[in-house]
Amino acid sequence: MANLRFKAVEEAFEKKAVEVVAPSEKTSEYFGKYVFNKAQLEKYLSKETFKTLMGVIEKGETLDRDLASHVAAGMKMWAMELGATHYTHWFQPLTEGSAEKHDSFIEYKGAPGSGVIEELSGKLLAQQEPDASSFPSGGIRNTFEARGYTAWDPSSPAFVMDDTLCIPTVFISYTGEALDYKTPLLKALSAVDKAATSVCQMFDPQVKKVYSYLGWEQEYFLVDDHLYATRPDLMLTGRTLLGHESAKNQQLDDHYFGSIPTRVQAYMKDLEFEGYKFGIPLKTRHNEVAPNQFELAPIYGETNLAVDQNLLLMSIMKKVARRHGFRLLLHEKPFAGINGSGKHNNWSLGTDTGVGLLTPGKTPEENLQFITFVVNILMALYKNNALLKASIMTAQNAHRLGANEAPPAIISAFLGTQVTSVLDKLENSTSEDAIVMDSKHKLSLGVAKIPEVLLDNTDRNRTSPFAFTGNRFEFRAVGSSANCASAMITLNAIVAAQLVEFTEAVAKKVKDGTAKNKAIFDVLKEYIKASKPIRFDGNGYSDEWKAEAKKRGLDCETSVPVIYDAYVKPETIKMFQQTGVFSERELHARNEVKWETYTKKIQIEARVLGDLVMNHIIPVATHYQSHLLDNVYKMQQVYDKEKAAKLSVHNTEIIEEIAEHISVIKKQVEKLVEARKVVNKIEDERKKAVAYHDQVVPFFDEIRYHTDKLELIVDDELWTLPKYRELLFVR
Ligand code: ADP
Ligand code: MG
Repeated sequence: MANLRFKAVEEAFEKKAVEVVAPSEKTSEYFGKYVFNKAQLEKYLSKETFKTLMGVIEKGETLDRDLASHVAAGMKMWAMELGATHYTHWFQPLTEGSAEKHDSFIEYKGAPGSGVIEELSGKLLAQQEPDASSFPSGGIRNTFEARGYTAWDPSSPAFVMDDTLCIPTVFISYTGEALDYKTPLLKALSAVDKAATSVCQMFDPQVKKVYSYLGWEQEYFLVDDHLYATRPDLMLTGRTLLGHESAKNQQLDDHYFGSIPTRVQAYMKDLEFEGYKFGIPLKTRHNEVAPNQFELAPIYGETNLAVDQNLLLMSIMKKVARRHGFRLLLHEKPFAGINGSGKHNNWSLGTDTGVGLLTPGKTPEENLQFITFVVNILMALYKNNALLKASIMTAQNAHRLGANEAPPAIISAFLGTQVTSVLDKLENSTSEDAIVMDSKHKLSLGVAKIPEVLLDNTDRNRTSPFAFTGNRFEFRAVGSSANCASAMITLNAIVAAQLVEFTEAVAKKVKDGTAKNKAIFDVLKEYIKASKPIRFDGNGYSDEWKAEAKKRGLDCETSVPVIYDAYVKPETIKMFQQTGVFSERELHARNEVKWETYTKKIQIEARVLGDLVMNHIIPVATHYQSHLLDNVYKMQQVYDKEKAAKLSVHNTEIIEEIAEHISVIKKQVEKLVEARKVVNKIEDERKKAVAYHDQVVPFFDEIRYHTDKLELIVDDELWTLPKYRELLFVR
């Protein structure tokens, strides 16, 4: 049994970096080669079709049959030239990751048997009905007529992967409810566009559109695939359920930004070549803090596209890892005792006139606009801090948040000294000197200039879950395996709702006879005061902050299933309805899915843990124990009683220790099974998830404590599961 572990270690140790052949062209030449982007559209579509399609994309409309047929023809021609034989609607169901079902292009020419031709009709492009009855829907699709269909999202370009044309689509039920992440994301982006445009027009009537931008940073672990194969917990749950800390892990900080190991370097290169082919502008790569942990990030882009690219890249990452003899771990906390993985979401808004709304302006009026957006974002965050936390919370991410390395499980915003001082001045000034009108009748900030140095702001607080970093906010609580859309839907929606409220509040004051600049000032001042509890620049990991946050009324809940309640609070439902992002029915349905997913994840982990304990840990420990007993017995044969006892004393101690650990482990596993049986009878999904959290999860740590102790005393030769030092340092 144990041989398998050593064989795996040996295999892993001998692996050499896989040779990666760089494409013969320059990056800029093959970048986006497999993407049906604007340039390709222009090339493969008639002028007329291209123009109409661009209009449709710009306005976020759906395309009609006729237009779809023309686009489909061009798309098929392009895809076939790249070797595509199949097509698929690529969508984002409520599981993490993407889904696809491939169909060949072939159709009969005429009657059945008449030979085939390659076809992609407009109808197939525009709409499809995947046999997707087993995707989670939270009950929406339980009745037979409530089937789902997918429809092309023309704002996200199609791409060819392997032999398949992938068409990014939304996934909705016939009754109109969203069954995916993309549909509500598009709605949230449209809401924030509308609301932010109105606000921008207070300052610059030229603004006609506001874009939401996302730049994600993807963290991940790589583990040698031979070692991976001998860890059932990694294979089935994505994380190690057992395993004692390695004597050396990240305490020397020698991995962070260190030289990249050669096998990994080859992997990263290969990955970048692949990413570039699909138009993903990968920019940075480096080692992360934990051993065998790495990160990569692209240049930011429009949020919808950035989300798609992240999903696509996650699947490419998995594939490329296999080529290099690795397995990719996207789990938020694959190893206890060292850092977990996140996916920082750098988020900003920008106008069609090229102004970054979260970039301190060069002109005084741009500064007022900047401050207006910052203050409204703070307000949105303050009102919805529980919801924003719910948007990133999962069974996996719970292991990461609140531990001493990642953002805490309390949402707060870090602004830095400069923006803070501007807000303080604004709060303490009078309307006359705070906001002034210049000779050209433009409003601007009279109270304080925002110094240029802000852009190289270096005193960034790493412990803040939502930090202002010079020209954007960095939302750090997002999990590494998550679909960024979940966080982006909520963030854009709450900001949209807040901006609408702001516009209305200003308009009301103006209607009542207040001058516009005073009205803006008054509302901002009110918001600055009201949203103060969300601002926190101190150490987010400290216990004092936990106590302080509670006093401030921020959400401090740590139970994942209970955190999800934030989605169905009356004020949340109202906010999502008003922004047009979710209906009440959708919110309830999606929560059902979240609760069910939570339960299933814990259920699977509990089973795997039981398995490992009964089939790996206890047999191995018992085996070693009998070996020791054998020794004790033989001592008694050779020596007199007294001497034998003396010579066997350390062995008998270990024998007893093993017996004690095994006895506790066995009892705890039995209790765990019992608890699961009871909890499984609960029918209500929320109650069941809560019970799993309260009654099942606590056994995990307790059992692990004892198995990890056994790992320390049992003969290494016998131990079957690769140890942390092997998983983390062999590469
Ligand atoms: P750090 O690790 O210091 O946070 P990185 O360079 O790893 O920085 O990542 C920064 C990310 O922020 C990149 O993905 C980058 O494209 C993105 N980004 C930079 N400016 C903006 C912006 N205005 N809006 C959204 N994302 C941005
Ligand atoms: Mg970052």
